[in-house]
Amino acid sequence: MQYRRLGKTDLNVSILSYGASPLGGFYGDVDEKKQIDSIHYAIKNGINFIDTSPYYGNTKSEEILGKALVDIPRDKFIIGTKVGRYGRDDFNFSKERIKESVKESLDRLQLDHLDILQLHDIEFGNINQIIKESIPTLMKLKSDGLVRHIGVTGLPLAAIERVVDTVPDELDVILSYCHYSLNDSSLDNLVPKLKGHNIGIINASALSMGLLTETGPRDWHPASNEIKLKCKEAAEFCRQRGSNISKLALQYTLGHPDLATHLVGMPCIENVKDNLKTLQDPIDKELLNDLIEFMKPIHNMTWPSGREEN
Ligand code: NAD
Repeated sequence: MQYRRLGKTDLNVSILSYGASPLGGFYGDVDEKKQIDSIHYAIKNGINFIDTSPYYGNTKSEEILGKALVDIPRDKFIIGTKVGRYGRDDFNFSKERIKESVKESLDRLQLDHLDILQLHDIEFGNINQIIKESIPTLMKLKSDGLVRHIGVTGLPLAAIERVVDTVPDELDVILSYCHYSLNDSSLDNLVPKLKGHNIGIINASALSMGLLTETGPRDWHPASNEIKLKCKEAAEFCRQRGSNISKLALQYTLGHPDLATHLVGMPCIENVKDNLKTLQDPIDKELLNDLIEFMKPIHNMTWPSGREEN
C-alpha cells in the first residue's frame, strides 16, 4: 500500500481509503457482520483512512464503525466524520449543533478524538454562516483537542473554492466527490490552488457512486439519464474487451499524483479484495485511453446540488 501526506496535516493516508456511506444502507442492505469484516479486512491490508458521517444511515454508519473499531489500536486507523448534514433535507451548520454533533459522533464511534472533522455538503448552507460561525466552531473544537484537522465537503467545486479563497489557512483538508473519476475530471482545475495552500485533497467516489460499476447506480443516483446510459454502455465496452469498468475507473483515478487518497465505498470483503488487487494490477493503457475517448460525450457533465446561490 502506498501512503501520501494529507496536505498540511501530519497524517499519512493510504491512497485507497474506506468510504463508510454504504454502511448506512445507501447501496442496499448488507449484513452487519459482513460490513464489520470488510472494515477489519481493509485495515489489516493497509487501508488506514475511514470516512463517515452522522448522515449515513441516520447514524448507523458511525454506530457500526464504533463496534468495528473498538478493539483496533487507535494508531492503526485515521477517522474522519462530519457535521451539518443529518438527513436528505436536514442541515444545521450552527455552532450549537456542531458542538453537540461532535460529542454524539464520538460517543457512537467510541473514541475520544477525531482525526478529521468536516462540514458536510456546504452547498446546502449559508456561506456567511459557514465562514463566520461554522469554521470558527471547528477551529475551537481543534484547540480543545476533540478534533485534529478540519475541512469542508461538497459537490459544486465553486462552493469549495469560495471557502478556500476566504479562509485558506484555516482549512486542513477538503473532500470532493464525483469530480475525479473516469467521467468527470473537473477537480483537476482546483488542484493547483489547493496545493498552493497545502490543503489535503480527499477524492471521494472513484466509482461515481455506482455509475462506474457492472451493476450500475441505485435509483437515487442524481445523474441524468444521458450520463447513466453512457456509463452503462461503457461497462459493456469494458466487458467486451475482457476487462471491468470498476477496475479501469479506479486505475484512472489512482493515476492522479496530487490527490492524497481515494475513498471507495466497500461494504463487503469482495469489494475490498477487488480494489486492493486493482492497486497491484498492470494498467492496460490502450484500453483505458479508448475508454476515456468512448466516454468523452459526457465528460465533466454533472448534476445540481445545494442552494442556487452556491
Ligand atoms: P463509490 O463511487 O465509492 O461507489 C460505491 C459503490 O461501488 C458501492 O455499491 C460498492 O459496493 C461498489 N463497489 C466498490 N468497489 C467495487 C468493485 N471493485 N466492483 C464493483 N463495485 C464496487 O461511492 P460512495 O461510497 O458513495 O463514495 C465513497 C465514499 O466517499 C463514501 O462512502 C463516503 O465516505 C465519501 N463521500 C462523501 C461525500 C460527502 O462528503 N459529501 C459524498 C460522496 C461520497
